[in-house]
Amino acid sequence: MKQSCILLVDDDTALLQALPQAIYLRMKDVTVDTCDSALDAIERICSCEYDAIVSDIKMPGMDGLALLGKVQQVSPNTPVLLITGHGDHNLAIQALRGGAYDFIQKPIDRDYFVAALARAIQIHQLRYQVEEQQRALELHARSLEQAVEERTRELTAANSAKDEFLSMASHELKTPLSSLKGMTQLLRRKLERTGSTDVPNLISMENSIRRMEVLVNDLLNISFIEMGVFELHTMPCNLNVLCQRLVDEYVIGTNPQPIVELHLPSEQIEANVDVERLGQVVINLLSNARKYSSASIYMALSYDETECAITVRDTGIGISPELLPHIFDRFYRVPGVEVQRGSSIGLGLGLYISNQIVESHGGRITVESIPDSGSVFSVHLPYLSVQPTEASAAADDASLSSQPHP
Ligand code: ADP
Repeated sequence: MKQSCILLVDDDTALLQALPQAIYLRMKDVTVDTCDSALDAIERICSCEYDAIVSDIKMPGMDGLALLGKVQQVSPNTPVLLITGHGDHNLAIQALRGGAYDFIQKPIDRDYFVAALARAIQIHQLRYQVEEQQRALELHARSLEQAVEERTRELTAANSAKDEFLSMASHELKTPLSSLKGMTQLLRRKLERTGSTDVPNLISMENSIRRMEVLVNDLLNISFIEMGVFELHTMPCNLNVLCQRLVDEYVIGTNPQPIVELHLPSEQIEANVDVERLGQVVINLLSNARKYSSASIYMALSYDETECAITVRDTGIGISPELLPHIFDRFYRVPGVEVQRGSSIGLGLGLYISNQIVESHGGRITVESIPDSGSVFSVHLPYLSVQPTEASAAADDASLSSQPHP
């Protein structure tokens, strides 16, 4: 226990001598300072922190209640005990209301006085300990905060270094890969002309190169998205023509060629899109449908009053409802899934990137899937216009003229 320090204030010099003696007789590790006026007491309080202050309530000049008010301003944690005259109940109540810790009535019962003083000292020391612990906790919290901030800064720096590396590496891989692809195609055509038996090897080389291209493009796209430099170059585009072209290219470029049933509306739908990026989304949906189904794929373009939709439907393995919310997450692949056709290669990035692309067009991708029955992925987009084709306009005219006149 540390040495406690008490200040005794009284204009009665006899009491000022008697009380310290009573304290020293009954308490250990205590120092008592005395002074005979409230003004003198204030000077001391300003220069020293006391564990308790005992003051007479009635003193010439500044009285005990005024001193109490001053103590609460200068040293609010220090308990103040006020000595009241016999029967001064009103003053005692005033003292307690004014924030005094306790009051001692004259004539002073020494044991009662020392017990009250000991309690006051204990309270002060406990308050001091609580404050110390609070300060230590605040310090610890601040140092933790700093550590977290520093770690976050390091992680952010490491993350952007990773993004830059990914972007650089995938960019650097793109050029040699496309020249490799060009040379392989050239060689395959040459060998086809000579009727060489090496043609199948060249075809499987081309397929491998194509898969590598998909992976490299996924990495390049993801690094652009992460670095916030993923740009769209949109222009008005006829979606009927685009869908037809994409399906044709996809079927011709895939070995063996899949069957894709395409249903287009008789009206021409025009939308503001980045043709390359939207093409990437549709091809990704088509190749997923092929990967996870062994039957033909159904694709449709449709519209209503508010938006248009490109829908890709398969009758394959489907996705269970609890996994469905995750399939647009980065690097997510449904665990333990065997692909039905084509290559299982993939980073679990295709749908994540597709979703980002569609969202930057102001649209959204929705999915409905039933395990063992198949999946329907729909790309919903805002459109610019819906124009009837000549054929559909003629059909409309014909149906109007065939209606009976009123
Ligand atoms: P990946 O590159 O692995 O194909 P995607 O992001 O395109 O990544 O797809 C994420 C996961 O969603 C796939 O690994 C697959 O498990 C599931 N998935 C996507 N499309 C289909 C589908 N048509 N049928 C069943 N599962 C699918």
